[in-house]
Amino acid sequence: MRYAELGKTGINASVISFGGIPIQRVSSEEAVEILFACKDGGINFIDTARLYTDSEEKIGQYFKSHSREDWYVASKSPARDRDGMLKDLAKSIESMACDYIDLYQLHNVSSPQDMERVLGPGGALEALEEAKKQGLIRHIGLTGHKPEILDPGVSSGRFETLQVPFNAMEKQALPLLKKARQKGMGTIAMKPLAGGALTVAAAALDYILNSNWVDVAIPGMQSVAEVQENCSVVDGKVTDKERQQLEKLIAGLGTHFCRRCEYCQPCPKGLNIPAIFLFEGYYSRYNLKEWAMERYSGLPIKASDCSQCGVCESRCPYELPIRQMLKDTAAIMEK
Ligand code: SF4
Ligand code: SF4
Repeated sequence: MRYAELGKTGINASVISFGGIPIQRVSSEEAVEILFACKDGGINFIDTARLYTDSEEKIGQYFKSHSREDWYVASKSPARDRDGMLKDLAKSIESMACDYIDLYQLHNVSSPQDMERVLGPGGALEALEEAKKQGLIRHIGLTGHKPEILDPGVSSGRFETLQVPFNAMEKQALPLLKKARQKGMGTIAMKPLAGGALTVAAAALDYILNSNWVDVAIPGMQSVAEVQENCSVVDGKVTDKERQQLEKLIAGLGTHFCRRCEYCQPCPKGLNIPAIFLFEGYYSRYNLKEWAMERYSGLPIKASDCSQCGVCESRCPYELPIRQMLKDTAAIMEK
């Protein structure tokens, strides 16, 4: 494993670190085993979120039998105001059985209004700055999907890390990553495997690690085998064949693949378009049929509720045929 300084935080994190989304889908025992495998592979940085259902609790379970001091722990909250943020932070600390959290982040700041709110008086950032003075957290980070929305946060100089989607097929955050770097912020690539779409993990992770603008990539891992595969990328050599496979995969996903940027939202009928395509992708491409169907069934508004107005398509930067894709999704997930 290699390690990198996360900006000026003093955190010396493994370049492949642990993204905490997928452990929602496994048992507590399996999650603990996965974290043991991470430790064995040299991973020392965990990133999770309040919103990832029981991910924090499962990490807390692991810390009951393993020293927390061997790890850097990061989480995040969607709260936008001071009180909500303090409440979420207290819950994260309790759930993960930690006395403090190394990096606490604003989760997915996604509109100018959101940004104004978090930075303003009584905003969520005020709470994190207080918490840092009290020693409850060590550093403050910013996360989101839309570079132009995050830009004022990076410019503010009040954040120490930036976490954005960045991978071999999603490079739109590159200018912001460079700006963050120039300001001394740590840079974290979320969705390094494009939400699991880039199945040639070795080549996809290798691309990020050699990009020069990312300190740490945080692929989600839901099995010991995935941990071992991801860790081996750092010391191993990516073959030409794997690079070609990645290129082929990207070309294949290129036109009909939702990147979850959320530009299409809000839908006047209330469809959560990226979530619908996410679950369909897990169902059709990644053999997680039961998991995907369970979550899709829980959506209050489904693909078949689309009125075919087309508003979303005019906003999608990837020019996806969203209406047709929703029809296809309804045929698969609502049969
Ligand atoms: S076409 Fe369907 S999904 Fe798109 S904005 Fe209209 S109702 Fe929403
Ligand atoms: S449908 Fe298009 S705009 Fe909407 S989240 Fe997916 S890629 Fe982004």
